[in-house]
Amino acid sequence: MKTAQHKSIETDILSIIVEQTTDMIAIHSFDWNYLYVSPSCKHLLGYDPEELLNRSAFEYFHPDDLKKIASYESEDMEKQKIHTIIYRIKRKDNGYIWFETTIKPIKDSRLGEETRLITVSRDITARRSSEEMVKKFVQAVESASDTIVMANAEGVIMYTNPAIFSMTGFKPPEVIGKHANFIWEGTMDKMFTNTLWQTIKEKKQPFNGDINNVRKDGTKYIADTHISPILDEKKEVSFYVGIARDITKAKEVDRMKTEFISLASHQLRTPLTSIKWRLEMLLKGDEGNLNDKQKDYVSNINATNERMIDLINSLLNISRIESGRLIIDSRSTKLPELMNSVLDEVATRIADKNIVLLKNFQPELPEINVDPKLIMNVYLNILTNAIKYTREKGTISVDIYETNKEIITKITDTGYGIPKADQDKIFQKFFRSNNISQIETDGTGLGLYLAKAIIDASNGKIWFESEENKGTSFYVALDKSGTAPKKGEVSITI
Ligand code: ADP
Repeated sequence: MKTAQHKSIETDILSIIVEQTTDMIAIHSFDWNYLYVSPSCKHLLGYDPEELLNRSAFEYFHPDDLKKIASYESEDMEKQKIHTIIYRIKRKDNGYIWFETTIKPIKDSRLGEETRLITVSRDITARRSSEEMVKKFVQAVESASDTIVMANAEGVIMYTNPAIFSMTGFKPPEVIGKHANFIWEGTMDKMFTNTLWQTIKEKKQPFNGDINNVRKDGTKYIADTHISPILDEKKEVSFYVGIARDITKAKEVDRMKTEFISLASHQLRTPLTSIKWRLEMLLKGDEGNLNDKQKDYVSNINATNERMIDLINSLLNISRIESGRLIIDSRSTKLPELMNSVLDEVATRIADKNIVLLKNFQPELPEINVDPKLIMNVYLNILTNAIKYTREKGTISVDIYETNKEIITKITDTGYGIPKADQDKIFQKFFRSNNISQIETDGTGLGLYLAKAIIDASNGKIWFESEENKGTSFYVALDKSGTAPKKGEVSITI
């Protein structure tokens, strides 16, 4: 038996708990009038407990939630069943917060003849709003048009959204539980799949790439795919998220565009070449001497015709490299020799402008496996620019040297330079900077785009440093490991 003193300590402790708790504890009459409210009410709802006394809780419930509260049957009350309801309750400032309330009906003669309701209410507004957020998030993912796949650390698919059906023909339940290679490997070779998993699993970096794949019905598609490993606090892979978009149609349109340019250019080049022959015959005097005026006109026509041929050759070269059909014929190459042959080709242009040429080739450079025709094209483009965009009597220096892993070619001029604002656009197709397009109208804006495409395909890097009215240095770095040869159907025209 507990002593009276014991009991009073327990009661004291219990009342301290009730007074201190952050939850709101209340005693109601059976018709929900407040008979007692714990002090936390002030913090949670903004009312002093006294303000609520003898008022009905129904005054404070959100109208849309009344049904939930009414569902608490009197029968339950009778059986003194514990019940939990979630509803909104009005604060003193008229805003609503979400309460999760446990109701315990008590019948005790000490509390009078009627049933009393003891409620313990917890503010779950923050939890509700994060649940709402998650709900919205799920809705967004479910209705996204891109395919979203989540795989666990072992690579097993845990979730995918319905968009997977329109891309692959498989419904989510058909892929959930299978290894992600089912979607992410496609018909790619082993090396591709190894690199993919190495990137996301070992290096723990995102992977981006186009995956050739086959739908459930056997048709082929290409998916632009991004996969990210999601790491936990210990920086271990917790799961993977992949987002993929069917780009089959876009690829096809791109291929058709490239094919069109290639076809149109071919058709245009043939008549231009025959015009060129005839003009050259006229200029040589094959059909009788031309007077000075006639010579002047024909030379002009010839130069314009040459420019058109150049433009068409550039367009053709670009379409060849973009189509992925370009042959890369790698062979052991001496870069200084290659550079000398390009310098021979531009020697008259350098002499015409009285430009000083400085050469500084490091002796005994190792040979390197690259496609000489492609690298020659890059050298020619950079040198032609250096000559075009340098004033008379300027200087062009050409350096070739090695670092640990690369052989670097640096071509520096003392020309007009590239304005800071244009520097990030210089490798874009058709881009020409304002400062020079006024001085030198002759140009297509295709040379550097092509040079970059070639260097990218050759396991190299290309970049520049430039200051307006001081000059420009272009760098080409080729990895000593060389360029892997590639079978193809077409080579470029220089
Ligand atoms: P193009 O020379 O036919 O205009 P490019 O693609 O070769 O086309 O070059 C693109 C642009 O880059 C040029 O129009 C010019 O504005 C700038 N540029 C390239 N090289 C140089 C250089 N050495 N000096 C100054 N500007 C340059």
